[in-house]
Amino acid sequence: MKKHNFYAGPSILPEFTIQKTAEAVINFAGTTLSVMEVSHRSKEFVAVMDQAIALVKELLEVPEGYEVLFLQGGASTQFYMAPYNLMKTKAGYMNTGVWATAAIKEGKFFGEVVEVASSKDKNYNYIPKGFDIPSDLDYLHITTNNTIFGTEMLYDLDSPVPLVADMSSDIFSRPLDISKYAVIYAGAQKNLAPAGVTLVIVRKDVLGKNGRAIPTMINYQTHIEKESMFNTPPCLPVFAALQTLIWLKENGGIRAMEAKNIAKAKLLYDEIDRNALFQCTVPDPADRSRMNVTFVMTPGNEHLEKDFQTLAKENNLVGIEGHRSVGGFRASIYNAMPIESVVVLVQTMKDFEAKQ
Ligand SMILES: *Cc1c(COP(=O)(O)O)cnc(C)c1O
Repeated sequence: MKKHNFYAGPSILPEFTIQKTAEAVINFAGTTLSVMEVSHRSKEFVAVMDQAIALVKELLEVPEGYEVLFLQGGASTQFYMAPYNLMKTKAGYMNTGVWATAAIKEGKFFGEVVEVASSKDKNYNYIPKGFDIPSDLDYLHITTNNTIFGTEMLYDLDSPVPLVADMSSDIFSRPLDISKYAVIYAGAQKNLAPAGVTLVIVRKDVLGKNGRAIPTMINYQTHIEKESMFNTPPCLPVFAALQTLIWLKENGGIRAMEAKNIAKAKLLYDEIDRNALFQCTVPDPADRSRMNVTFVMTPGNEHLEKDFQTLAKENNLVGIEGHRSVGGFRASIYNAMPIESVVVLVQTMKDFEAKQ
């Protein structure tokens, strides 16, 4: 039996994606060749790239004026690619966790960074609200889901300056108003595909304005003009991404996915709130992530942490160890996670309580 996969990343993918990709590793699109050994200029692979781009646009209702790119280098490359392309002198950042901090560090190579808001004072256990966004910023950078700290912005922020969003761990989990964003980027390995490809959605009118000479590979314009085929794309991850996009569409699209994600998250948070042994690390329910659920033992019960891990392992649950900067547990319940696996985790928590 396959284990219940709660890893934070790389993480669970739809069975459909894994099956279709496994088949294409042996025989891709009837070519008798593997998707790993076929030219990216072949008509079969060009069709994969075209369809993947078209499906991202369809599923996320991407308006005119935006381009969808499949790049390499992970979200971490976007930490400097976005400022390289967009920053003239000064940008704003929301500091909501480890990944936001990493983005801030890279932004500082290109100009002044203003931290418009931060939740560092409480170990990033909330999403800052009601802060000012100066109108003279070249852009504002946000992290919509804080994979490590279990907080999420479940809304599209209104910003008077172009909005750049790291959506690595919650892209495709809820409908978006794309028109509120200038750049969205997401490393694929949380909610889309194996590691190796990075999805970028960019509004063309924000490019070419900062007067900076930009190396070819780091220039969004290069990849826009060549439709993500300037150099060899990561063919296998792009193929897998296409399968996940097809799976999303066949399962009712992003709204249906959001409804499932709400149900899964409610089931787990309700049990954490009810069970006297556990508590959520994010006090305000409005800030709780639907993708990464972080929780710890309640005060006085910390010594039971190892025992719960042991029971979880016995019940075939993997990947629920919390990140070292939070401790406790983290259950990542991305799009591909069936509610049945969340039910097993919740039952394990109930069984554990009954045993004490
Ligand atoms: C995982 C993650 C990253 C890092 O992504 P890489 O593709 O490994 O560079 C960045 N931001 C967020 C929100 C993440 O979850």
